[in-house]
Amino acid sequence: MADFEKDLEYAVKELKIEFSFSDYQLRAMKSLYENKDTIAVLPTGSGKSLIFQTLPWLLQGKMAADRPMIVLVISPLNSLMQDQVISLCERGISACYISIDASTVTTCAEVEETKYESEECSDEEMDKKLKTSAGIESIKNGHFNIIYLHPETVFVKEIGKLLRSSVFRGRVCCTVIDEVHMVAEWGSDFRQSFNRLGELTCLFPRVPHLAVTATATPSALEELIALLQFKNCTKVLANPDRPNIYLEKKERLPNIHKFEKYDLIMSEVLAQLKDKYIDFPVTIMHCDNLESLGYCFQLLCHELGTRAYFPESSTLPEDRIVAQFHKDYTERMKIHIISELRKQNPKVRLVLATVALGMGLNAPSIATVIHMRPPTTLEKYMQEIGRAGRNGKPAKALCYFNTSDIAKNRKGLDNAMRAYIQNTDKCLRLHLVGHFGYNSVLFSGEKAMCCSNCKVTSAD
Ligand SMILES: [Zn+2]
Repeated sequence: MADFEKDLEYAVKELKIEFSFSDYQLRAMKSLYENKDTIAVLPTGSGKSLIFQTLPWLLQGKMAADRPMIVLVISPLNSLMQDQVISLCERGISACYISIDASTVTTCAEVEETKYESEECSDEEMDKKLKTSAGIESIKNGHFNIIYLHPETVFVKEIGKLLRSSVFRGRVCCTVIDEVHMVAEWGSDFRQSFNRLGELTCLFPRVPHLAVTATATPSALEELIALLQFKNCTKVLANPDRPNIYLEKKERLPNIHKFEKYDLIMSEVLAQLKDKYIDFPVTIMHCDNLESLGYCFQLLCHELGTRAYFPESSTLPEDRIVAQFHKDYTERMKIHIISELRKQNPKVRLVLATVALGMGLNAPSIATVIHMRPPTTLEKYMQEIGRAGRNGKPAKALCYFNTSDIAKNRKGLDNAMRAYIQNTDKCLRLHLVGHFGYNSVLFSGEKAMCCSNCKVTSAD
């Protein structure tokens, strides 16, 4: 064990990590150090990424290598990879991501000169930071320590060749599947590649493999372990409760009120936005679909007028305090919004979004997550509200619903989500953690601060 501590000390020094690891992070790292496949189910904000980002240095000593090793990270979304590559490069770590068709490799330009200045990083700077190189030639020499790629990319012929090359066989010290709950959630197209990810354990039989996620029920966990072909797997599990998030449910108008049902919800938000303007708590609002998102965004811009911008004299899209985020939106604006949300105090205060936004997004300032209607599963709900309150400050998750939203004929809606919405008297927090196999919560504050159900019973 002394070796683990010594090698961890080396990694901490090389990575300039200035805080101490949690017990969960240490348990996961130690298990990987002992060459055991590991699955970590840890709440959003508990530093899951740091577990695998440390490995090239942690395992360097153990493998008697003359330079840091390589970690391959399989990640489901571009926005997530961009976010992590930028933040790694800012810390001086050599990282990149491969495009889904394996045609390009993107890293940060001027890695050495780029300091940690995310607080005041304009869009132009952001564009400058991300540099797309000529092709995958640039990673063949094993220069990058953290390489992000899509599940599909693993099975592109050229990448297969690369992974089998002597450089990669000798230097890859761990493969990681980030946001592994997506295995169960993605549609059939994606699933094919996800289902084949177990092949990674054959491709790299001598190194440990890691899968991380914020949410998995006990049965989903067993399915994942089998699918990924993890052997002798260590499970590092934490209670998923997020005590600083207040949970609230509210009924909205029935669906026959096509747009009025949004008007009512938006009028509350608008009143607050007009009042607080640039001090409005940073909020993510999940919309039903692209049409409603477009409608709500137009409504916001129209109602706010010049107050939709900061400063008010501006007309630049980048100066809007309200934003939209969906898969059809321009790549440039998506990158802009993500870089905004990564700031401690962003200019963007309200983002209307579809699910395209932000798994694993490191956005400490998000204070409120609103769902215009419930997502289809409690796993998704837990993931999405998990983005609130990551800085530890009081936060809120508000979920609107009507009877159609929880009707039996709503496509994909599972019984657990329906039961959560139909729960009108018992603690919502206890209900949520119960779904993930826990029978106690971490919250210890006043009942009225727990959830909207507890608030009502505490007032009686
Ligand atoms: Zn409660």
